[in-house]
Amino acid sequence: MSATIIDGKAIAQSLRGKIAAATADLKTRHGLVPGLAVVLAGNDPASEVYVRSKSKAVVEAGMQSFDHKLPRDVTQAELMALVARLNADKNVHGILVQLPLPKQIDSTAVLNAIDPAKDVDGFHPVNVGRLATGLPALAPCTPLGSVRLAKSVHSSLSGMDAVVIGRSNIVGKPLVQLLLAENATVTIAHSKTKNLADVCRRADLLFAAVGRPEMVRGNWIKPGATVIDVGINRVPGDAGKTKLVGDVAFTEAKDVAGAITPVPGGVGPMTIACVILNTLRAACAGAGVPEPDV
Ligand code: NDP
Repeated sequence: MSATIIDGKAIAQSLRGKIAAATADLKTRHGLVPGLAVVLAGNDPASEVYVRSKSKAVVEAGMQSFDHKLPRDVTQAELMALVARLNADKNVHGILVQLPLPKQIDSTAVLNAIDPAKDVDGFHPVNVGRLATGLPALAPCTPLGSVRLAKSVHSSLSGMDAVVIGRSNIVGKPLVQLLLAENATVTIAHSKTKNLADVCRRADLLFAAVGRPEMVRGNWIKPGATVIDVGINRVPGDAGKTKLVGDVAFTEAKDVAGAITPVPGGVGPMTIACVILNTLRAACAGAGVPEPDV
């Protein structure tokens, strides 16, 4: 039997609609308009596309978007000064510094300079620590979106066996924390994991965040499992063109899995939706307004 295809685009669109409604309500009742500042240094084409989609999503949600485009030769001092200004700006509730930064920049120092209350990427050590200790936190957007996709299939993840392949600070580790908070039983796998296929076959929920095109084969998947493919890999396609594939061999996997996300159209759109969700949360927390349930 073929798996249910989890339509990340539609789920993200629905989430964005709810965020827009909550934003309108926030404006009417509290006079508060959430604002997101996006900082882009240099002209990496992939980053430019990503930043444009974020700004568009912010505006569509009824929020304010503040774009800061800096030259590739920006200095550390200039970037730090901009972050300090944005930290102090009352109209800015979320700050997002697009990675990768130019090589002369100490990225960690820049990310750590962001006010944790405005850290909508959830990369600041304060948010990392809060998430790990079960305190309210701004959590990274791709893991947030991935868990929401799993919950679109299973209303409760409690007691489920989840396997996460990948232990990066951006995806794998925060995903593990979010799954633990959902009471899943979590295994985290990485490049040194032995018998990875066997580990994956135990999973009711399999998350692949590796960055290796179609590494997870159909016979690694437990029949009926839910598969969330975080990977985005550009590979050669037809007629000299390129195409995007995930970390899971989709054609094989969809014949075994119960539900699976496609690439593109799965986790990607949810990441953007969760950026605006975090901006809404940050704005509410900053104003002492209860967070809407979206
Ligand atoms: P990283 O390169 O930071 O981490 C990759 C992880 O995969 C590492 O933990 C690594 O293990 C592990 N790994 C590498 N090779 C293997 C292997 N052969 N077997 C098992 N594990 C392996 O990547 P990211 O976490 O940043 O991103 C992962 C993927 O997700 C990429 O394709 C990226 O493009 C995509 N992505 C998608 C987003 C979206 O919006 N959909 C957003 C962010 C990322 P080790 O730690 O041992 O080296």
